This record gives sequence, structure tokens and C-alpha cells, in this order.
Amino acid sequence: MSTDLTARQIMEKLVSFPTVSRDSNLALVNWVENYLDGFGIRSHRVMNDEGTKASIFAHIGPEIEGGVVLSGHTDVVPVDGQDWDTDPWQVVEKDARLYGRGTCDMKGFDALALAAVPLALARGIKRPLQIALSRDEETGCIGAPQMIDEMLAVLPKASAAIIGEPSMMKAVTAHKGGTGFNTHIHGYEVHSSLLHTGVSAIMFGAKLIEWANQMNAANMARKPTDLAAIFDPPYTTVHIGTISGGTAANITAKDCEFSVDLRCVPGESAQDWETAYLAKVAEVQAEMQAIHPATSITVEPYYDVPALQAETGGEAEAIARAITGDNGRHVVSYGTEAGQFQERGYSAVVCGPGDIAQAHQPNEYLAIEQLKAGEQFIERLIDHLCEE
Ligand SMILES: [Zn+2]
Repeated sequence: MSTDLTARQIMEKLVSFPTVSRDSNLALVNWVENYLDGFGIRSHRVMNDEGTKASIFAHIGPEIEGGVVLSGHTDVVPVDGQDWDTDPWQVVEKDARLYGRGTCDMKGFDALALAAVPLALARGIKRPLQIALSRDEETGCIGAPQMIDEMLAVLPKASAAIIGEPSMMKAVTAHKGGTGFNTHIHGYEVHSSLLHTGVSAIMFGAKLIEWANQMNAANMARKPTDLAAIFDPPYTTVHIGTISGGTAANITAKDCEFSVDLRCVPGESAQDWETAYLAKVAEVQAEMQAIHPATSITVEPYYDVPALQAETGGEAEAIARAITGDNGRHVVSYGTEAGQFQERGYSAVVCGPGDIAQAHQPNEYLAIEQLKAGEQFIERLIDHLCEE
């Protein structure tokens, strides 16, 4: 394999693998493994239970603790139903932009991290560079926890993690956490004229949805804490994104299902919110069972992404600021794997090329200028890792 691929060439290769989260990413992982192998770098895979997808990570440089992890994800969101002007699985240059699914979120950064390998080797870095490419990020940051645990088990621990989600190369030091629950109301079907003997899953589900409305109103009315005040909006939100249920206008609905999505400001625990939601669920379930015992509510968590808490004197933030010269205060409301690294003892910051506004969109692109800024960032990071 060629040892001198540019970041752009690597990105073109990575985009050519249609690694939508629901599908296998192993072809991409094989390619990355071969690429690293070409430099004599041993990589490690962490497979999912089904053996269809893997995260991959590697250590470059001296076998010592410290140094920096560059973290990205290998999966992308689907293109189904989106109106693309070009083939999403091929990088197309137009108007100083590189179009393609994942160019911005976040194969552009993955490519920068991989292009750093020959540079790090040539310069003889004195502190380690680690590369961590996860699976199943877009479906709720499912792959990273297992990957990070494995990294801690088999590699010397890096001290700082840079998560290259699109931030226009600004240092993002905090983000909200997120947690989601699929809620299924099991009602009791009768003819709607006998409503008092039936349990409409929809009408009882509406009580939980109304709880969400009440929480949003109460959260909005409360004075935000200092930790929360920097976010937009500066409070925790509870959102119902999908709902289905019922079979006919004159039958009390036997089933109603909806998704509850909570975005928690730092300082509030997703656990506490889950407890509060489950208390409301228990209350509504008791009302249902008082009418008919064969009714219930099941709640299944489908994702849980911890917040990234702003650090005091954090190493990752210091590195990102020193390299980018950016001293502004940036926080985002979207979730990333940064909180999962932080939870496991890494200093963490989000800093990557591209604008989140382009992520998940048809005609997703990465501006060439952003890729260049990313290359500069990597060069300076390598300089930093060459220092004792
Ligand atoms: Zn992403």
C-alpha cells in the first residue's frame, strides 16, 4: 500500500465505503487495518456481538502513558429519501467543497487522523498518538464505551482525547448529554362506546407526553445554573420524536408507542431524569391497571450519552487552544463520544473540521479550507507530541 496518501485521498477512500450504521463497516475497518499495517502499526479491533461491525484503534510512538487520542467514528447516517446532486459514496469537488456522505461527519477527521501516522513516525514523536475509530456512533454512541474500555486494557493510557466532530476547528469544551427511551403502552381494547371499560393506550400515553410538556415549561421557567447558562436552550429538554398507535376510530387503542428523547444540561444527571420519568410511568400504569389489570407500560432505553463537562485546566482544551489559537467559549447541544472518554478519565475536547449544519444533510460537504485547517492542526499536534 502506498505510504504517502494525503488526507484527501484517505477521505476519498473512506467515503467510498457505504458504512451506514445499520450495515457492516468491516470493509472500511479492513482497509484501515491494512493502511496501519503498511507502517508496521498494529491495530486492535473491538467487534460487536453479531460480528458484523468493529471499532478499531492503534497506538503510535513510545510505549508510555500520556499523549493524545484522535477519536472519530466510522459510521454515517443513511441517504435514504435524500435528494443528492452527486453520488453520496464518491467525493466530488465543486466550488471549493468536497461533497459526499461523511465528508463532514466525520470521515474527513478520520482521514486527518490516519494521515498523521506517517508524519508522527517520520518526526519521531516523544509522546504517543493514538487513533480510535468507533462503530455505531450515529445510533447513540453505542460502540465507543466498549472500545475505550479495551484501549484502557491493552494500551498505555493517553491523557487527552480530541474528538473530531465538526466544530469548524473551534475548541468545544462542553456539550449536553442525551438519553432516550422507547415507551410502549399496552392498553385494553373495547368498542369505544364502552370507553369506561377499556384502556386506550393512546389516551394514557398522552398523559406521559403531557408530562414532557410540563417538564419543558418548568425547566424553561427556572433560572439556569452557571453550567447550563452557556447552552442554547439553557435547560434540559424532553422531546417526543415519533408516535404510533391505534387501529380504528371506534376502538380503544391496544398499543401506543413513542420515543422520549432527553437532552440534559451538564450538572443534571440523566439518571435522575430517568427516575423522574419512571415515577410518572408507574403512576399512569397504576391508573390503567385500576381499570383493567391486563395493561402495562414498558420502557426501554435506546441510548444514553453522557454530557461533556467543561474541565478546569483541562489538558485537551489547552492543547486544542494552543494549536488553533482559539480562545473563545464554545459549547454545543449535540452529543458526542467526548463525554464517554471523559467518564473514563481522559481530558476531552471536541475539535474537528466542518460545520455541524452540513452533517446528516443531503449534499453533505467539507469545505477544502476546513480540510486544510485540519491538516495544519495535525502538523502542530505532531510538533506538540515531539516536545518532551
Ligand atoms: Zn458525528
